[in-house]
Amino acid sequence: MPFKAILNGKPIISLDFTDQEWEQLRNDVKKGKVELKLPCCGGPAYLRTSKLGTKHFVHKRGHRCKNWKPESLEHMRLKEIIYRVCVQEGWETDVERIMPSGEIADVYCEKDSRKIVFEVQLSYQTLNTFRERQKKYINDGVRAYWLFKPPKRDSYIYFNPPNKQLPIFALEIDKNSSDFQIEVASTMLSVETFVKYVLEGRIRFKDRVVHRKTKIIVDVYKAATKCWKCKRVINVVFPYSDEYVSWSWFGMSKEEEAIWRQIAKLQRQGVRFFANVGPIKYRYSKTVGEKYWMNTCKYCGAKIGNFFLKHEIIPEVIEDEYLPQIKIEVKLSHPIDIFVSEAKWYIVEKK
Ligand SMILES: [Zn+2]
Ligand SMILES: [Zn+2]
Repeated sequence: MPFKAILNGKPIISLDFTDQEWEQLRNDVKKGKVELKLPCCGGPAYLRTSKLGTKHFVHKRGHRCKNWKPESLEHMRLKEIIYRVCVQEGWETDVERIMPSGEIADVYCEKDSRKIVFEVQLSYQTLNTFRERQKKYINDGVRAYWLFKPPKRDSYIYFNPPNKQLPIFALEIDKNSSDFQIEVASTMLSVETFVKYVLEGRIRFKDRVVHRKTKIIVDVYKAATKCWKCKRVINVVFPYSDEYVSWSWFGMSKEEEAIWRQIAKLQRQGVRFFANVGPIKYRYSKTVGEKYWMNTCKYCGAKIGNFFLKHEIIPEVIEDEYLPQIKIEVKLSHPIDIFVSEAKWYIVEKK
């Protein structure tokens, strides 16, 4: 429902009116003292106040406007919240602004050289439509931020991967207050705070960050298992990292080889962590068909292949936070990309 109308040729916004002014306007319209029109179609505008107390305009009863899409009370409420924050923050603010592209911006605001649009999208909209409409706003020279209600089933489609060109943020309902909330970088923000942060330039996009390095730090874990051959309990060690090194499930990558070579070296040097572990050896594996580094049983010398390690032991024990571990430093012959952080929206401190 529109917040904007044309009063004697000048645009006005219902949200700016005090209760008293609103009643005055209602009387003036009733008595035909003033001319009040809707910008969408030029039809006469009437005053209404929603159940939640939001002042707004409506078309003549029964009139179907081709240019105005019906809005829910929720939509109207969100638009009001956004409008009030923008005004409060000292931005020149407008509602239902008709852009050169033909888009009607829910809330438009500008300050200095910055022009921002907030769009509330509660009805389903495909990702492609988001992109098309965003392109229009880009051509209009504004930065549009979208607050949308994601369809539960496939909301992941909207965020994978996050996109700097498309600032869309999902509205979630807070179970306690049943207010809308927005999650940015694992922080839940109220709509008010979110809008404030956008205006302050505190919602930023960070691209995926990787560092190229030849010296890496790797965690090495130790776990107990049973030797497949002699059935005795033995310790095995393995390097593990979520963040880097291309771990191959079969055979061994160059980086993995370098890591294992370092583990074997430390064991030969007598580092205590490896004392109760069978010798780490470079041996031929029938499964893989080539030589690589592996654990062996300290009692019978049986090979504990990496295939078994990666499929059986690691998935089973890696969640155990008490698993003994040490950090080792490994020098690689070629630099590798070390993953630092993923591409995402985040909140920066106020300048
Ligand atoms: Zn209209
Ligand atoms: Zn054994």
